[in-house]
Amino acid sequence: MYTTMIPMMVQAKKDKKGVPAFNIHALEVVPMMARTAEGKGSPVILQVSVSTAKYIGFQLLADIVREVAEPMEIPVALHLDHASSLDDIEAALAGGFSSVMYDGSRLPLDENIQNTKRAVALARAANASIEAELGIVGRGKIIEAYPYTDPADAKEFVAETGVDALAVGIGTHHGQYKAKTEIRLDILDQIHQAVDIPLVLHGGTGVKEEDVKTCVRLGMLKLNFGTELNVSWVNRAKRVFAEAEPDDSLRELMLLCNAAMAETIARKIDLVRDV
Ligand SMILES: [Zn+2]
Repeated sequence: MYTTMIPMMVQAKKDKKGVPAFNIHALEVVPMMARTAEGKGSPVILQVSVSTAKYIGFQLLADIVREVAEPMEIPVALHLDHASSLDDIEAALAGGFSSVMYDGSRLPLDENIQNTKRAVALARAANASIEAELGIVGRGKIIEAYPYTDPADAKEFVAETGVDALAVGIGTHHGQYKAKTEIRLDILDQIHQAVDIPLVLHGGTGVKEEDVKTCVRLGMLKLNFGTELNVSWVNRAKRVFAEAEPDDSLRELMLLCNAAMAETIARKIDLVRDV
């Protein structure tokens, strides 16, 4: 079924299991992602960057995810990842997304709170769920003076905004796949004690598997994986397309690449569900 992430989070908290969130890179992977989760009996959040959403089209993407999800017994949500513009959030909600993220993490705390409140109002009006971010999730290389989330700020932020889930900075990085990060589980523990909503792990690819399990136990109920999925698809594609003849079926070739991504997805589902 097609839902927001709210019922998934309620159940995840009860079951003490995480909910995996996978980044859609192209339409071709959407049915495979949902069916892989269905095969595992796991809820799943399919999410896109604003640029991918604009490339595909907000409504086209939402229509396809809904069509794929509706007959399934598992809950499936479509989530807009890291929107820093309220216009993009409005476009996603109008198109039929069931969940959005407003990312004001680079703004001063007050401004982040004010904008997030507007985004929450938009999401509520559309019966969608909403995630926000406080503290910074890095990109690319590891930075020295890391802007970790302050647990007291997190408490204030959640109380002021009423968001459904909160992404926090504990040392993870987007796009990191060649090494694993030393994350601050002590800070996560403090944030977990300060707020009672689900927390979100960004940059999941760069986190050691045993740390991912600890993150779930410390309240991270939405766990995002993007880069590793992309890497598995492209690595398979390099081999498959190098060996292919030009008149080989493009569909067959892409299915071989999708199969590599499906293996990664299945592994990540096991990782966050069996903690
Ligand atoms: Zn992220």
